[in-house]
Amino acid sequence: MDDCIIIGGGPAGLTAAIYLSRYHLKIRLFDCGSSRAALIPCTHNHAGYPEGISGLDLLAAMRAQAEKYGTVREAAKVTGLRVQDGGFAAWIGNREVRARSVLLATGVVNHRPPMPDALHDAALARGQIRYCPVCDGYEVTDRRVAVYGTGEHGAREALFVRSFTKDVTLIAPDRHTLPAEQLAALDAAGIACINGPATGWALEDGRIALSTAAGRLAFDSLYPALGSHIRSELAVEAGARADSSGCLEVDDHQRTSLPGLFAAGDVAKGLDQISHAMGEAGVAATTIRNMLNAEAPLWR
Ligand SMILES: Cc1cc2nc3c(=O)[nH]c(=O)nc-3n(C[C@H](O)[C@H](O)[C@H](O)COP(=O)(O)OP(=O)(O)OC[C@H]3O[C@@H](n4cnc5c(N)ncnc54)[C@H](O)[C@@H]3O)c2cc1C
Repeated sequence: MDDCIIIGGGPAGLTAAIYLSRYHLKIRLFDCGSSRAALIPCTHNHAGYPEGISGLDLLAAMRAQAEKYGTVREAAKVTGLRVQDGGFAAWIGNREVRARSVLLATGVVNHRPPMPDALHDAALARGQIRYCPVCDGYEVTDRRVAVYGTGEHGAREALFVRSFTKDVTLIAPDRHTLPAEQLAALDAAGIACINGPATGWALEDGRIALSTAAGRLAFDSLYPALGSHIRSELAVEAGARADSSGCLEVDDHQRTSLPGLFAAGDVAKGLDQISHAMGEAGVAATTIRNMLNAEAPLWR
C-alpha cells in the first residue's frame, strides 16, 4: 500500500508531490492532463519570475523537480475513490490502487462563452480572452475591457476590473439580472451594462468583437464571468463535504471532513491562484506526513 495517492498534477498536486517525496514517503500521482495552469500564456504575478513564465514551462519544471525526488507519476484519470480497510482505494478504470491517505488536487474548469473552441484558444493565447483579473488585471491597465456575465458575480468582476481601467463594459449573456444597488454601484463606477444575446464572436483588428443588443462592439480583452465546474466529485462520492458551489470544505490543515482525505488548490475553497494552491499543498503534505508518522513512526 502507498503512503499517499495524489489526484491531480497541477501546481497543488505537484507541490504536494515534491514535499511528500522529500519526506521519503511512497506516493503515486495521477494526472489526466487538463491543468488550468497549462492555459496560462505567461504569468506575471507568480513571484520569482520577473519576466513572467508560461504555465506549461512552470508545470514542466515542477514535474522535473517531483520526479528528481522519486515521485511516481502516471498520465491517467482516476475514476473512483472510496474508503477501504482503514485507508483508500482508487480506481483507474478497472485497476485498483491503495493508499493510507489521499490528496485531491483536481482543480476547476471555467465555463466558456459560446464561441468556437479554435477562436477561444486563439483569443486566450493573445490575451483577448482572460479568466482571472486577480492574475492579469495589470496587463489590461487603461485598455478597453468587457466582462461577460451578469448578477452578483458579473458585477463584482466588472467592479474589480474598474481599478485597472475606466473603460469597462458588462455584457449579459442574455438580459441583465442586477438588483438596484448593484446597478447603482456599476453606474457610479461608469461601467456600461449592455444586454446580450452575444453572437458573432470574432477577432477583428486585434480585438475580440461580438454583436450585442447595443450593436457590434470590440474590446482589447474580455473576461468571461460565468463561474466554474469544481472537480470535487471523487471526494464527495467518497463521503467528503462540499459547499453549495462544489468546493471542498477543508480545515486550516487542508483536511476534508473525511479522515485521511485532504484537498488543496482550486478544488478547495480559497483564492484560485498558483501561490495559494502551492501554499495549501505544502500544508496538506506536511499534515499528511505528521498523520502517518503518528500512526507508525517514519524512522529510517
Ligand atoms: C487563463 C488563465 C490564466 C491564469 N493566470 C494565472 C496567473 O497568472 N497567476 C496565478 O496565480 N493563477 C493563474 N490562473 C489560475 C491558476 O491556473 C490556478 O489557480 C491553478 O492552476 C490551480 O492549481 P490546481 O493544482 O489547484 O489546479 P489545476 O492546475 O487545474 O490542476 C488540476 C489537475 O488535476 C487533474 N485532474 C482532474 N481530475 C482528475 C482525475 N479524476 N484524475 C486525474 N487527474 C485529474 C487535471 O488534469 C489537472 O492537471 C489562471 C487560470 C487561467 C484559466
